[in-house]
Amino acid sequence: MNPTRADHIGPLDMFKIGIGPSSSHTVGPMIAALDFRINCVAPHVKKLKGKKTENLSVVAQLFGSLSATGRGHATDGAICAGLIGLHPKSAGPDEIWAAMPELEKSGVLNVEGVTIKFIPSKNIDWQGFLMDKEGLPHPNTIRFQLFSGDEIVEEKIILSVGGGFIESADEKGQRRPPQKESTLRKLPHPYNSANEFVAQCVKTKLPPWQLIIENQAALGMSEEELRKNLSEILRTFDQCIERGLSTDGILPGGLNVKRRAKALHQLLNEGKTPAWAGSDLRPSVYAMAVNEENAAGGKVVTAPTNGSSGLIPAVWRTLQEANNLSETELQNGLIVASMIGALVKTHASISGAEVGCQGEVGTSCAMAAGGATAMLGGTPEQIEQAAEIGIEHHLGMTCDPIMGLVQVPCIERNAMGAVKALNATALSLASDGNHLVSLDKALEVMKQTGLDMNQKYKETATGGLALG
Ligand code: SF4
Repeated sequence: MNPTRADHIGPLDMFKIGIGPSSSHTVGPMIAALDFRINCVAPHVKKLKGKKTENLSVVAQLFGSLSATGRGHATDGAICAGLIGLHPKSAGPDEIWAAMPELEKSGVLNVEGVTIKFIPSKNIDWQGFLMDKEGLPHPNTIRFQLFSGDEIVEEKIILSVGGGFIESADEKGQRRPPQKESTLRKLPHPYNSANEFVAQCVKTKLPPWQLIIENQAALGMSEEELRKNLSEILRTFDQCIERGLSTDGILPGGLNVKRRAKALHQLLNEGKTPAWAGSDLRPSVYAMAVNEENAAGGKVVTAPTNGSSGLIPAVWRTLQEANNLSETELQNGLIVASMIGALVKTHASISGAEVGCQGEVGTSCAMAAGGATAMLGGTPEQIEQAAEIGIEHHLGMTCDPIMGLVQVPCIERNAMGAVKALNATALSLASDGNHLVSLDKALEVMKQTGLDMNQKYKETATGGLALG
């Protein structure tokens, strides 16, 4: 369920290891399909206890942005992988992308020893922006159905709400309201706005990351467990950068986009970039390395989404190299960055289909700027200011990926966002944290701008750059 409060969304909610190219169109649908297999298909099959089962079949209907750009985002392949029982964190890219051709050949799923008809080209149904002639509960909606002959015996509507988060719709097919505050656990350091977070830091005199660690402990996640997972996330960042810097060729999908990170990195190492650029191209090259891996369907971390997965790893690698930061400092930065992402998720959105790219690259820039400022010893006020600068200069940014692929403008957009995040960090560290527009106000504006934005600019590939 959707938590009402930002303090209930933790670092491991915002940073999830998964598969490219999209968190809302690949990771979310894959988890949704796995959920349908585990929670609807498997229990139904078990109830049959050996009775006649050969008429069972599964259908997945994709609506809204998933229908408009799902082919470019490999949503169909992700659904196949989830339906055969794979999870984006534990499964490797090769087995994930083999699922669809194998199902197309065999035409059956195997659940609890029972075969169920499922041919991707027939049983994945690309719908439009209406469901049963009604509006959608969310721009990324999937309806899974299990049929016995012509009769629907199980049905579940799942919403992929961005960053790999999924929610199930209620029995009327509507998005459930956020969890009631009264049902949430009491935390030692409650906050639900940037203003409240800064006030908690000032009141407790705790380092900003420590406050979040103590809240997480109250929610059942020990510091040891949290740091173990963050260490794996940092390792995945690095592996992704290294793979991106050592791979060239053409990205899949038909747009014939050439991978550039490897060649740019060589130019950097040979000192052949423009003199005035110096080493400043490094964050751009690192960001592009990760986003090229994402576009190729590789293993990446949502930060907070896959489309924006390159920005934070690029900023972390750049600062680690420049300032020789320790693993613990890098983890502390991630913890603070996740708090900024949680505020955006709670008060605006991290979904390109809901608010455009301001929700993805914009959020990532704010997270990176806030987390980097924390890592470099900034005050809580400076952290808030850095995050505000990060989001303010992405307000109104549309999502218009060409051919629905997470390539153009997405890859370069992460490079530009990484540079902005580093600049926001430097600007806030050079000031006293006093500034005119608060982060809370900027998030209000971001939400309203997303609501006002025409649907063609919200991950539907029907406007802007997508029109060529
Ligand atoms: S334009 Fe931005 S929001 Fe849209 S797919 Fe690309 S990275 Fe994601």
